[in-house]
Amino acid sequence: MELPASAVLHPLHTIYFYLTEGCNLKCRHCWIDPKYQGEGEQHPSLDPSLFRKIIREAIPLGLTSVRLTGGEPLLHPAIGELLDCIGENGLQLSVETNGLLCSPQTAQDLRRSCETVFVSVSLDGVDAATHDWMRRVKGAFDKAVRGIHNLVEAGIHPQLIMTITRRNVGQVEQIVRMAESIGAESVKFNHLQPTSRGSKMYENGEALSIGELVALGEWMERTLIPSTALRIDPGHPVAFRPLGRIFGNKPGECGLCGIFGVLGVLAGGKYALCGIGEHIPELVFGNAGSDDLDSVWSENPVLNDIRNGMPHRLQGICGECLFREKCLGSCIAQNYYAKRHLWAPFWYCQQAYEAGLFPSARLR
Ligand code: SF4
Ligand code: SF4
Repeated sequence: MELPASAVLHPLHTIYFYLTEGCNLKCRHCWIDPKYQGEGEQHPSLDPSLFRKIIREAIPLGLTSVRLTGGEPLLHPAIGELLDCIGENGLQLSVETNGLLCSPQTAQDLRRSCETVFVSVSLDGVDAATHDWMRRVKGAFDKAVRGIHNLVEAGIHPQLIMTITRRNVGQVEQIVRMAESIGAESVKFNHLQPTSRGSKMYENGEALSIGELVALGEWMERTLIPSTALRIDPGHPVAFRPLGRIFGNKPGECGLCGIFGVLGVLAGGKYALCGIGEHIPELVFGNAGSDDLDSVWSENPVLNDIRNGMPHRLQGICGECLFREKCLGSCIAQNYYAKRHLWAPFWYCQQAYEAGLFPSARLR
């Protein structure tokens, strides 16, 4: 098959489907900010026929994998049909879920849907009091843990994702031990982003200072990571990692931005810069219902601006960083949200630099 010119230069490897506008939790730190969906309620979700059309148009552009996220992706009323479509097209699947709907049946369906399935389950503490406080729904911890067990029983060893705040920072090591004993394959630590709902947590003093984050990262690299056989993503940007843990990773993995090969699809069918199009209209690139994906991918001026300007137009500390080609400023979506331009530096590194904590050996 002859590939369109846009696909030869910039293959569209992965689509992030923000499948639903609803979520069955009300997490304090969520940067997507979906609507709460209680029992018997239904918020809009991506039309399955649109999902199929997008996959059909994306395969000639280089699509090899899809990520299902949300809101809570397993709330999608036709999730089985979407999984079938992914499997039929031989795509790799990754799912970001809060785990509540990972029943034994759903876990089996995920396992059988395609050959390569990767599931991340959010767990913000090792006990109900900590996790449920973050997630703002009672019983969330018990259901998430049950969901993780169901996944493991179905043969999927999930990644656990913990967002670090002042309240759960004392459980960082415990979550790794829990992951080991429960049969998880890795743990990813996220920093609380000063974005959307996360901004409120910063205002309320729930975030660690940059000095505390850098010290925590050093301890993880020195002590926590060598203490476990599990893969650990400590959450700090590339410049703060040992060299051996930078160059083994590919774009889209372990904190490396995959923006040259990633496109977001929102629940209403809009194409966007990952999920940030939910908040920022100028980062919506078209609509799957009316626009041809090849034209969006090859002609959208923002996407072309990113391709032409990244990483040499990055500003602040990211412009000075030795690893900017690899890291691409960590997350252009978050950076844009914070400063309303594409070349803004990542907040963590910029704050660390201003506090004299950025490693000088990593400057150009
Ligand atoms: S300074 Fe920017 S490019 Fe360098 S590691 Fe930090 S976020 Fe990445
Ligand atoms: S812009 Fe952010 S969300 Fe999108 S691929 Fe890069 S790191 Fe991921």
